[in-house]
Amino acid sequence: MEKIPYKIYLSEEEMPKHWYNVKAVMKELPDPFLHPGTLQPMTADELKPIFCDELVEQEMNTKDEYIPIPEGVTEYYRMYRPSPLVRAYNLEKQLGTPAKIYFKFEGNNTSGSHKLNSAAAQVFYAKQQGIESLTTETGAGQWGSALSMACAYYGVPLDVFMVKISSEQKPYRKVLMETYGAKVHASPSTETAVGRRILEENPGTGGSLGCAISEALETAMSRKNCRYVLGSVLDHVILHQTVIGLETQTACEKYGIKPDVIIGCVGGGSNFGGLIAPFMGGRIKGENNIEFVGIEPASCPSLTRGRYAYDFGDTGKMTPLIRMYTLGSGFMPSPNHAGGLRYHGMSPIVSKLYHDGYITARSVEQSKVFDVASIFAKCEGILPAPESSHAIYGAVEEALKCKETGEEKTILFGLTGTGYFDMTAYMNYNSGNMVDHIPTDEDLEKGFATIPDIGK
Ligand SMILES: *Cc1c(COP(=O)(O)O)cnc(C)c1O
Repeated sequence: MEKIPYKIYLSEEEMPKHWYNVKAVMKELPDPFLHPGTLQPMTADELKPIFCDELVEQEMNTKDEYIPIPEGVTEYYRMYRPSPLVRAYNLEKQLGTPAKIYFKFEGNNTSGSHKLNSAAAQVFYAKQQGIESLTTETGAGQWGSALSMACAYYGVPLDVFMVKISSEQKPYRKVLMETYGAKVHASPSTETAVGRRILEENPGTGGSLGCAISEALETAMSRKNCRYVLGSVLDHVILHQTVIGLETQTACEKYGIKPDVIIGCVGGGSNFGGLIAPFMGGRIKGENNIEFVGIEPASCPSLTRGRYAYDFGDTGKMTPLIRMYTLGSGFMPSPNHAGGLRYHGMSPIVSKLYHDGYITARSVEQSKVFDVASIFAKCEGILPAPESSHAIYGAVEEALKCKETGEEKTILFGLTGTGYFDMTAYMNYNSGNMVDHIPTDEDLEKGFATIPDIGK
């Protein structure tokens, strides 16, 4: 067997020509979206005023295992893909583990995360449909950055509602989005009825993702030929992110790498869902026995402590009802520096796979996450995003277990992005001022009380 290089790069010709639709092989499907008024399953026609037509078709597609990637999207992917699969030789040495550790690195583009994979696809379809403007929300700012880049490339005007606290902590993210031509509003804003209402009820609020989603939705619905786009959670976003898993699979096959465990951080579930999807397809068909592990922050523990229930995707209760693991749309996460992991809900696909036992999950406090982020930065050279560092934590934990047992497991994790805009977080960590916030059961009950009681 050939020695595994430090970085495995595929050629452009080896990039996937199709996305992978894991729903086509799942034994049981996630439950359908429900109309919050009638509690009947939402139809494609009801969703099309909100989302672009093609994305609605993808959202509802449960038949086709492979969905072609249009040339217009591949054209964009080629600017920053394929992304490398890295053998973390230095981390292995540092830990003294017999395990083999690999990571798929998605941070090598200006947005600093994997989110560009879906941004490019969503804006391409919007442009193709003749949509004249788009709106979205952003928490930590990576999604807003990615979408601004894609909108600049395809030529579609964009309004971004950015969680207020995050826009104060990360002012350079705003500049980045504006450089690509987006209009950025701190949320809650006074520009929407829902924003004004939330400000009235809660004047000092730093905002939340759920609230920014409501504002972006309201704006999209009130404008002619405008659509809303979401950066995670939904099935079509997971679909676009499978480009991560498919490239990983090709690289593994080329070098005979067989992962025993695949680990990802989970916020809305898109990077994890996209990384594991093709491997999960194999597992469901009985072709492998890979263990899949999602790592979430202890401050926003939707999988490990949430409820599997129908809930709204936003604070303003404007979205369809989605069956997922949720902390309640009224849950306000305590401050956490992994801004991208602060959503109250979870991808319905990831939720269903977790519910059915195909995935396990663990939660971790942010100070421990930064301990491994710091080790990783020093030995592997990449400054990881706080979100991604949750996955590093999971991989290190697994590798240290192997050190005890002597097992030579192959561990693979998703390194979703870089932390160049997270200097406030690193500053707090370096100066010993990082505090861990773990919600009490009582805190969680307040969030659960906001889950609608629809008798399901
Ligand atoms: C947004 C983000 C995440 C979390 O989102 P998912 O949809 O769960 O993937 C993780 N890492 C980075 C770098 C992000 O920007």
